[in-house]
Order: sequence, then structure tokens, then C-alpha cells
Amino acid sequence: MRSSSGDGRAAARRSPPTQAPEESLRMGTPVREVRTYCRICIAQCGTLVTVDGDPASPVVRQVRGDAEHPVSKGYTCAKGRALPALHHHPLRLEQPLLRDADGTQRPVDWDTLLTDLGGRLAGIVAEHGPDAVAVFYATGAAFDAAGRRTAERFFDRLGTRQKYSSLTIDSPAKPLTAEMVGGWPWLNLVDDDQECRLSLLVGINPIVSHGHTTSMSNPRARLRAQRERGELWVLDPRRTETARMATRHLQTRPGSDPFVLGFLVRELLADGADEAYLRAHASGVDDLARAVSPLDAQRAAAVSGVSVDQLHELLAAIRRAGRISVVTGTGATMAASANVTEWLRLALLTVTGSLDRPGGMWFHPGFLRPVDGLDLPVSPPEGRVEPGPRSRPELTRRFGEYPCAALVPEIEAGNVRALVVVGGNVASSFPASGGIRAALRSLEVCAVADVVETETTRLATHVLPSVGQLERADVPVLLDAFTDRVMSQRTAAVVPPVAERRPVWWSFARLAEQLGLDVLPRGLTWETADDDAIIDPIVARSRDPEALAQAPAVVLSSVERFGWVTGHVLPGGRWRLAPPPLLAQLAELLTSEPGVDVAPDGLLLVPRRLPRAMNSQLHDVRQAGATPQAELLVHPADAATAGITDGVMVRVLGAHGATRAQARVTDEIRAGTVSLPHGWTEPDVNRLTSIVDETDALTGMVRMSGIPVRLEPEV
Ligand code: SF4
Repeated sequence: MRSSSGDGRAAARRSPPTQAPEESLRMGTPVREVRTYCRICIAQCGTLVTVDGDPASPVVRQVRGDAEHPVSKGYTCAKGRALPALHHHPLRLEQPLLRDADGTQRPVDWDTLLTDLGGRLAGIVAEHGPDAVAVFYATGAAFDAAGRRTAERFFDRLGTRQKYSSLTIDSPAKPLTAEMVGGWPWLNLVDDDQECRLSLLVGINPIVSHGHTTSMSNPRARLRAQRERGELWVLDPRRTETARMATRHLQTRPGSDPFVLGFLVRELLADGADEAYLRAHASGVDDLARAVSPLDAQRAAAVSGVSVDQLHELLAAIRRAGRISVVTGTGATMAASANVTEWLRLALLTVTGSLDRPGGMWFHPGFLRPVDGLDLPVSPPEGRVEPGPRSRPELTRRFGEYPCAALVPEIEAGNVRALVVVGGNVASSFPASGGIRAALRSLEVCAVADVVETETTRLATHVLPSVGQLERADVPVLLDAFTDRVMSQRTAAVVPPVAERRPVWWSFARLAEQLGLDVLPRGLTWETADDDAIIDPIVARSRDPEALAQAPAVVLSSVERFGWVTGHVLPGGRWRLAPPPLLAQLAELLTSEPGVDVAPDGLLLVPRRLPRAMNSQLHDVRQAGATPQAELLVHPADAATAGITDGVMVRVLGAHGATRAQARVTDEIRAGTVSLPHGWTEPDVNRLTSIVDETDALTGMVRMSGIPVRLEPEV
């Protein structure tokens, strides 16, 4: 299949070959099996997609794993295999929609939609300035190289500072602490899956999520190999699919991870640290030791809810292993204690001499965007900080964007009048969801580029039906450093765009032309460009342009993974183990002690992902007849206290709102904790959050995990 061009026809510029391992005839129509890769999650598994029917409007029959893919080796999950159902879903967006003055959305042609949208954006910029136009880059945009690249250029050229992304919903603690400790925010850790003898997983369930900021394709095989090589320890309030595979599972209280990690750092600094490594590569060791000194085993056990003996067994296992890996997920990064957890994770890895060294963890040097040879700008210990937006200046801008918590106040204050959402469902994924829904309705322009109807597209003034992953050529540029290998891949489109769906880059290129902005490479226009014309310059700067010159292609690099950060990036060649803002947050945490002050009938709510549900898109994309259920997990003891039985509807009440869910009574969750999936309209975890009282002082992230709640049976 050729690269997707803007006019919906196959582009003449290039015809990248696709392989057809099996070609046959079914009812007189050719059946093709096309090699590509999945772009639902960061694992990006290699897949073979079976397509048949009329080549102009083919049917996507099946997705299966590509056994020849060097990383995923034939692995796929239920979501990836459900891609045919997603591609042919009845809620698939096929035609541009424009909201009328009476509030109804009506189908229009692209000229009408983009002329109206471009005119309104130009008018808002002329009257209120570029900061009146905001953009939200959602997860879907991260997988669309040409679309994301062109959208970024559009908003850069427009000159708006109102940029938001899913980064500040679930993971700003990682770049924050990387910047404060290592000097550069985008240092992404990967565990050494060849030599690491002990891996500690904190609040992460890769069997379902397939990783968080670092991919884990074929997670069962990888975790099994870790267990056979040494030990696999899991800290999680829930006996997750991953915890069931662990050597040891400690069922910790939500938000208590810093107490366990701080205890380990404290004890290892006293006995078992890699002293030579610390002398050569760390600063602030004494300040760190003072900061964690209150975290003895008794205190860590009291807060985390695991026994002193269990903590000492974990400590002994780490001492035996020497170098270790520590892998964290949303259970850690969406909690109020996220920054301190991530900092103490880096501290633990430094104290054990595990950073940037075999047997521990390496930093991803990038493939499409190699960074190991660059002179990276080193940030000060407090990071690079700019003031927040006018309505909430305390919500500071980091990493080139404002925290999501600032968007609703900015809309309510009239500072943002237009919002463009690229590839995501903000109505279901934003904190304080009641506020975001009202704010979206109040906007002069709410333009949404997406592949399926969502709650957000239903609220939009302009709906831009965009090509799905099977309809476009791609490379994983934004996720380049999020893979667990130094590798990349390239795919052609598998099928042509359906109906009136168009590439995201094409929509922005047309809008840019109206607004007099230059967003495409080498003087191309929306009429002459195609996906590959935008991808080619990205590939040209990669480690191996030749290997990625044509799709399909997968290439692994043998570049040295260890040592480049210690040698070229670290400020003064040392990890800064005691950044003052993080010392202050730990001191504050020690005075509050999460979970200890919960009311007698109170519980802490943690979110989770489901193996068969997309994040905040369609939740009814079926695989093998199964429909995911967003149940509330309740421990039998807590169910008895609240008068709840299995299967009943329950009201979940928090300080900032309430939601309802069906209870599943199970001892897989620890007593005192309940769990709901996030990204759903109902049950809606986000109704329990607050953008006023629950924002982190450094990142502006809203607490989404460890939320105090009560349960009531619905009458
Ligand atoms: S793990 Fe599943 S959703 Fe993720 S890339 Fe692989 S097949 Fe797709």
C-alpha cells in the first residue's frame, strides 16, 4: 500500500513494497497479509494484517503477531488483535462535522470545515493573541509521526505557549527527577534484561500495560526470564497479573513507595552501598543520608503496611544482587508522592551502582533521534521553570508545556478561546472531569482530530476525521527513546483512507496555508506532500537512514548503551542526589504519612488498566467475544464493613465528587484499598480529583492515585 496523500488517493511519489507472506484467493478477491507494526501502545509489536476485498475499500480481517519481528517475535495482545474491529467500528469517524449555531453537528466537506476553522482561529489570534489558542497532544498523537510533527510546527509557528499533553496527567515525575538528578529531563531508563539479577517493580503491571515510558513487549516471557536469572520483586496494593509472576510480592499501601525506597536507601548507605561508584559519580550523599534517616524499618512498615521482616528480606535480596533495576508505573507516578518516589528510585539505583552500568539499567540513546553524541543542555538542580499561565501562575511551565490542571482555569478566565485536541479524549481523561466538560462546551472553537467518535468529539465545534494507524505510513519518532531496545521501524499504510478521513498532517498543512504559516519540509505543500515526504527527513537524521529508507523495515542498533550519560551528560560527572525541591517534598511527606490519616471507614482508591480496553477510547472493541467491565475491586473485609456484596452497584464518594460502579469483591486487592479503571465516562475516576486542592507543587500534576474515598451501596 502506498503512502497516504492528502487527497485520499494513493500517492504517486513512492510505492513502498509490502511483503505478502501468504497470498491466496477468496471468493475471487485477493487476500493479502501485510507486514506492519501496532501503534496502540508503546510496545509497538510487529504484526501481520490480513486484508481482502476490493482494493479500494478492503476489509481488514485479522491481525496476528509477526514471528520475524526481532523484538516482539510474534507476540500481540488482545487490544492489538482487536484492530480489525476498531478499524471497522460503527463509531468510526468518516466525515468532517461542523457545529451549527443551534448546537447540532452536521456533516460538511473539508473545504467548508477548514475554511471555517482557519477563519475562526485567525480571528481569535488577531483579537486576543496566539495564547488564546491552546493545543492538547493526546496519546493518539504520539504514534502518528507525520501528524505530530506537522501539528507541533503549526503551534510553534503560531506562537502559542498554551501547549498541554498527556505527560502531565500521569508521568511528569519522571522527566522532573531526571532533570533534577541527572541534568536532562529525557533520560529514559531501561533495565538490563541480559545481566540484571534483581528487578524491583513498583506500581506497574506490564502484563497489561506493556510498560510505562519504557516498553515491555512480550512481558510474560521477559518477566519469566528475569525470575529465572535472579529475582523479581513487586510492590503493588493489588495482586496483579504481574505480581502473580513475581518471586515476591509486597502488597503495599497506595502512596507509600517513598517510605520503602527511602528505607532501602538509608540501610544501603549504612551497609552495602557501592562506595567507589558514589565517590566517583554522586554528589549530595550526606544530604540524602540525612533526609532518609527517619525512615527506619518500623516507620516504613507502619506506613507501607508490610512487615518489618518483609522489608528486611527485600533489603537482603538487594544486597545479594548488588546492581539492580527499579521499574515504576502509573501506580507510583500518579500518586501524590510521585516525585519523591522517582527521586528515591534514582537514589537507590545510584547507591547500588546500577545506573548506566551492566547488570543495572541503561539510558536510551535514541535511534531516530540519537542523543548520545550531542552536547545536551544541563539544567540546574531545580530544573528549568517558567511561570504558569495568567489564571494559575503557580502551575509552572516545564518541558515546554503547562500542566493539564491549568487548562480549565485558562478557559474559564477567557484566556483560552480555542482548543485543538490531537488524537485523544480529554473529556474522559482529564482530572476534575466535570470542569473540563463544561469548559469544552464554553469554547469558541473546540476542534478535535480523531479516528472514532468519543465524548470529546461529541462536544466539538469542528471534528476532523483522521486516518487510523492502518491508513498511514509511520515511524515511531515520539516514542523513539521509550523502547526497550535501541531500534526503530517503518511501515507503509496497509489500506487506503476510508471515506473522507485524511491525515492529521494534511489538516494542519491546509490550516497553516490559510494562516500564512510554513509547516511542511522542503517547500512541500499539502497538495504535493505525502506521509513519506514528512517521514523521510526524520529518517535521514537517524542512526541508519539506509535501513529505514523503505517500509516495511525493522532495524536494531548495536550502539553501546552503557556509560554515555555518565561520560557526557551528568553535571560535573555526578548524579545530584539531593535536589533541594525534592528534599523539601520528602520532609513534607514525612509529616503527613499517606494513608495513616484515612478515616476508619475510609479507603484509598487506585486506578488500573484493563487488558481488553483502550485507554479512553472505545471500551467495547471486542476480542473473542469479551467485553471489558470497569468494576470496582473491593476487599472482602471492606465490603463487609460497607455492607456491599459482589455485583451490586456502589457509590464511590470522595472529597471532590462521586462516581458509581459495580463492585467485585476479591482478595486480590489489599484491605483498605479499592481500584477502578481510568479513562471511562462511568465509572469516572476523574470526578474524584481536584485541580484546586490536589495539584503537585512542582509539576502541577493532579493526584490520580491514592485518593481517599468511602463506599455506599446504591439503594
Ligand atoms: S502490546 Fe498489544 S496494544 Fe501494545 S503494541 Fe503490542 S499488540 Fe499493540
